[in-house]
Amino acid sequence: MDGNFYTGDNHLNYCVNCGIDYGTTKYNDKYLTCDNCGTKLRNKYAGLALSGGGYRAALFHLGSLWRLNELGWLKRLAEITSVSGGSITAGHLGLCCNRLKFEDNGVAANFSDEIVIPIRALCSKTIDVDSVLLGLIDQFHRPIDLIAAHYRKELFGKKTLQDLPADNQGPRFTIYATNLQTGVNVRFSRPYLADYQLGKIESPQIQLATVVAASCALPPILSPLVIKLNPQDWKEWDNGKDDRTNLPFNKSKLRRALFLTDGGVYDNLGLERVWDRYATVLVSDAGAPFQITTSPFALRFSELARAIRAVNIVTAQTRALRKRWLINDMKRGQVRGTYWGIATHIRDYMLETHGCEPPLLNDDTTTHSLSRIRTRLNRFSAKEQEHLINWGYALTDAAMRRHVIGEKEAAQGKLPYNIQ
Ligand SMILES: [Zn+2]
Repeated sequence: MDGNFYTGDNHLNYCVNCGIDYGTTKYNDKYLTCDNCGTKLRNKYAGLALSGGGYRAALFHLGSLWRLNELGWLKRLAEITSVSGGSITAGHLGLCCNRLKFEDNGVAANFSDEIVIPIRALCSKTIDVDSVLLGLIDQFHRPIDLIAAHYRKELFGKKTLQDLPADNQGPRFTIYATNLQTGVNVRFSRPYLADYQLGKIESPQIQLATVVAASCALPPILSPLVIKLNPQDWKEWDNGKDDRTNLPFNKSKLRRALFLTDGGVYDNLGLERVWDRYATVLVSDAGAPFQITTSPFALRFSELARAIRAVNIVTAQTRALRKRWLINDMKRGQVRGTYWGIATHIRDYMLETHGCEPPLLNDDTTTHSLSRIRTRLNRFSAKEQEHLINWGYALTDAAMRRHVIGEKEAAQGKLPYNIQ
């Protein structure tokens, strides 16, 4: 990829408040804060978080990335974090970004061929039904292992986390799952696998298909995905100087195998790593807005339905809280960036009121219905795919023009698909 992608440093050396770049002078400080105002320093580049939501999310984010590429922002991302369905698109982008050919204007001309076509092909196939049915009768494989096998066959082959770009070659890709035993998120990236409670494993050799499946292991039916590990491979945080010596749990036992569920259980926006780390934070959210149910039949008779409903309520609440915190931080000027969600009203960006060209799509019954489309891993028709990609594209265009880049700097957008 050689200079195509962002290949800067990962230092936290920039004060968003004062606009001071400390370069490498503060690299050895333990707590990196601004000398002038005391604000926590951030990396001066941008981080992008891709939410969960099955194939719907994979397709919506494809539209987001499509527009970011045309705006010249794909190659300006220092890190991409992802959860669940977002990890399908992120994982594929991570594997293929060395094949993207950026032109002088900072745009990869072969984005569609390399990134869009393979993801669309996967989203044309149903992989959840047979995986669940077979997994229920096959005592040796859980449903999620069969989903991983589909990912291996259709998209990732036997590539591992080590096939993602190194930090000096391209953006860091961080894929989230949730550890059912420690209750915290597990971060999978090329440099390390990390669980705050357990420590980290450097340069993990785990297959990308397994990691993306773990990120998508929706409870209760699709989880857990179990990854067996060598307890000797783990390292403590702070180079072994872990001051928590009297832990109330047997760490070495927990380090033998990770029992993982969907990354969205802990943080459905995948925000945790980027939101206080980068000067510019971009969030693409394809998560389902919470829907009221008027038919209590299943809730009355099925314990499973009640459990799933309760998980959905908790998830919706934590997502709403994280979103509110982020938008408050943006309003207070502590971080730059923007948020766009599949349920966002595009008119709320008020582009024309702020002297910008109008949005590429208007809110209507079709765009409204996209936020209610299923979040499964089953066949999406060509039309469904194109509507989701167009909507991700149009929202990204509006959010970026309104909050991140000047209207004059933004290359003219054109919806990817002309849908009849
Ligand atoms: Zn400052």
